[in-house]
Amino acid sequence: YRVDFIPLEKIPVWSPSGDSSCKPRYKVNEELNRKISLFRGDITKLEIDAIANAANKTLLGGGGVDGAIHRGAGPLLRKECGTLNGCETGEAKITGAYGLPAKHVIHTVGPIVHDSVGESEEQALRNCYYTCLHTAIKNHLRTVAIPCISTGVYGYPPDQAVEVALRTVREYLEQNHEKLDRVIFCVFLKSDKELYETMLPAYFPRG
Ligand code: ADP
Repeated sequence: YRVDFIPLEKIPVWSPSGDSSCKPRYKVNEELNRKISLFRGDITKLEIDAIANAANKTLLGGGGVDGAIHRGAGPLLRKECGTLNGCETGEAKITGAYGLPAKHVIHTVGPIVHDSVGESEEQALRNCYYTCLHTAIKNHLRTVAIPCISTGVYGYPPDQAVEVALRTVREYLEQNHEKLDRVIFCVFLKSDKELYETMLPAYFPRG
């Protein structure tokens, strides 16, 4: 037992703070609202069924969240990743989590944005969120944390990525709510936390 591990029980369900100027884009659904959390911090500390990794196509480790996950998991993760033949953009592969408190890591590869976001980059980012959740339910995993895929070195503008993340998770949960207990948006930067707090009421409005 490590004191800096964060069990699911310590992560509150999302509830809106203050007034949101953001108009609802979906119907009020309290059952779905109870399955959403916004957590700011290190995804490697979460003691849950699965954490998603914003990996690269080699799956052999990199910087940012990928580096943190490989450091925390230890060399056995890299060893297992080495048997997977990489991963295409918008797809996902699942592994053990080794030294991490999570049970599994779902590695996905986000799109790289060079100048501006086009239809194919948006579709790829949507696929990342969709396939992470789908990989979780196929493996009977009920609690998943997902970082802000592609918004670091891969250059996807965070204000556009948040919309893709929230829309994809909302629509996935509408179809598969009985198979998932919690989806945690794990943000690292204060600016991302603020973006999610602003946009969550549009996608998961309260009654
Ligand atoms: P990508 O290559 O997909 O852009 P990055 O790792 O560069 O991935 O960035 C994705 C997001 O992960 C960024 O918002 C970054 O701040 C965040 N991040 C970095 N380290 C961690 C961590 N330990 N836990 C959660 N999020 C993290």
